Amino acid sequence: MRLYSTKNKTSFFSLEEAVMKGLPDDNGLFMPAGIEKLNKSFFVSLESMTFKEISYEVSKHLIGDSLEDHTIKRIIDNAINFPAPIVALDDHTFVLELFHGPSMAFKDFGARFMAQLMGHYNEYQNTTLTILVATSGDTGGAVAAGFYNTPGVEVVILYPSGKVSDIQEKQLTTLGKNITALEIEGTFDDCQAMVKQAFLDLDIREKIRLSSANSINIARLIPQSFYYFEAYKQLPTKENDVVFSIPSGNFGNLTAGVFAKEMGLPVKHFLAATNANDVIPTYLESGEFIPKASVRTMSNAMDVGNPSNFGRLKNIYSGLGSTWNNMRMDIKGFRFSDAYTRAAIKEVDALYDYTIDPHGAIGYLAYRQYQSYIKNSQGIILETAHPAKFLSDVEEALNKKINIPESLCAVLDKKKEAVLLSTSFENFKSWLLQNK
Ligand SMILES: *Cc1c(COP(=O)(O)O)cnc(C)c1O
Repeated sequence: MRLYSTKNKTSFFSLEEAVMKGLPDDNGLFMPAGIEKLNKSFFVSLESMTFKEISYEVSKHLIGDSLEDHTIKRIIDNAINFPAPIVALDDHTFVLELFHGPSMAFKDFGARFMAQLMGHYNEYQNTTLTILVATSGDTGGAVAAGFYNTPGVEVVILYPSGKVSDIQEKQLTTLGKNITALEIEGTFDDCQAMVKQAFLDLDIREKIRLSSANSINIARLIPQSFYYFEAYKQLPTKENDVVFSIPSGNFGNLTAGVFAKEMGLPVKHFLAATNANDVIPTYLESGEFIPKASVRTMSNAMDVGNPSNFGRLKNIYSGLGSTWNNMRMDIKGFRFSDAYTRAAIKEVDALYDYTIDPHGAIGYLAYRQYQSYIKNSQGIILETAHPAKFLSDVEEALNKKINIPESLCAVLDKKKEAVLLSTSFENFKSWLLQNK
């Protein structure tokens, strides 16, 4: 796989460079150069393939020229080791459960695949690689679990004290071994600023080999395309047009879906389902992309005011004609308030006896609205997190207790271990230099 920067299509990078750097120096985003269609034979045998086999074939297609087959196989075996089942709500509506991994959100797919790839590239280095991550909640847990026990890799996670949920905090602070959590007395933005400054600091760079587990690393998007094929495979009939409804924030998940379509998956439309942070639905209506400050909602993993993957989407749709028109042919925008989200959680429970989380609920609403004006489709709603991760909001909407999976109960019983630090960069720097 060759990659270019969205800001400069004329110079190319290897997969290794793109994964280990995270971001190109020109502040663009790494993009695969030319995604080709999978062979007909892949689609013919899709129904008889396991999720791992599908993931392996799609990986080979995308990155088979960068890595040996046995390496790809090992990465898939270690990263994609939990299922992605679809559950039917009715004959035309399916929920794709992406929460069966260790942190119980879809980010496990991307984080685990990225961790395996970085671990592979790091294998023959004789100094430790230190990964710095700032998290506002979900990413940290997925990254921590992904890198857990990877030889030669240390992970330092910065999270804002008192601003992540109990479950999220426990997922960050109870692993131990090569994972260290720093509890910062500040906001997520403070954490992110400290990480950025560390990358620029010459004393740190001289002593510690650093890398970031940035959310826009291309290694996180590649595995997110696998489950679109896996979901399609499981549909009982392929006769109706297939629509994916995608609760979105930074639009990584939706971009990975578009990669799957470029590889030949027959998708009629993607639904860009957002909460009040509706920069992309607004762009799809007006043609103008206007980032704005994010507002807090119940579906907080989608509270993004300047979606970072918009640059990638613009690149994909910039072929012939207007980018805006091209994008609107494939992607339909929807937005819903918290009041609608609560009502949808109740409706899905009452009509289908299924507990959906606030993010999935927005995907559900988008598909129902889509059906009101386009007939004869079947919709697959991406359920991006387990409802128990948003326990109080879901229980409040339903006015009853919900089941908490055993693995979540187990993590809640563990003892938190974190280093409390102020937002002072100098303190953080001396901690890093002494401890890593
Ligand atoms: C991160 C996240 C999203 C948003 O995904 P993007 O790829 O950033 O659009 C949606 N739901 C949940 C639960 C998430 O953690």
